Amino acid sequence: MGEVKTIVGAASGESFFTTKFESLLAWARKYSLFQYPFATACCGMEFFSVAGPRYDIARFGAEAPRFSPRQSDVLWVVGTISQRQGPALKRIYEQMAEPKWVVSFGTCASCGGFYDNYTTIPGVDKIVPVDVYIPGCPPRPEAVLDGLMLLMEKIQNGNREPVTVLPKVVPEQAQLRGKRALPVTRGDKEGA
Ligand code: SF4
Repeated sequence: MGEVKTIVGAASGESFFTTKFESLLAWARKYSLFQYPFATACCGMEFFSVAGPRYDIARFGAEAPRFSPRQSDVLWVVGTISQRQGPALKRIYEQMAEPKWVVSFGTCASCGGFYDNYTTIPGVDKIVPVDVYIPGCPPRPEAVLDGLMLLMEKIQNGNREPVTVLPKVVPEQAQLRGKRALPVTRGDKEGA
């Protein structure tokens, strides 16, 4: 779908934008996401922490939750979804207006997690199409922000292929794993 590019005039120092209407619309959409949190389990605590001042999801224009599907752009499926909850989740998705996106938050939402039994849906993509999978039990807030940024990128590019947040590898840990040495503590790292 393209990008919104700023071009700075070399002589005057003034800037102007070049874009297509679809790109401008996508740019506006990705910075004004209204979320519907469908939180059912322990992952909900981590979801709420992302909204707090420490992680500050408001920076991305995505701080406003809406508890009406008709006012929502992004359905966050947060936690375990049981067979009984499945039809309600599907109905909420169907009530959202287009364009709409779905984020699967945590292992339980993505594949059922360790609830490998008849009561739990083994992944919400069996019910609704998922745009972004965020792994973790629960995912760390940084991973949630990574997922949100991936979604924003998809919105800008018009890409509807599902994507997954990849785990972050801490360089020191990766190195130590290779050498089979003891892990470095925070105090060691900071020289304390
Ligand atoms: S992924 Fe872990 S933290 Fe999240 S709902 Fe499942 S058991 Fe709870």
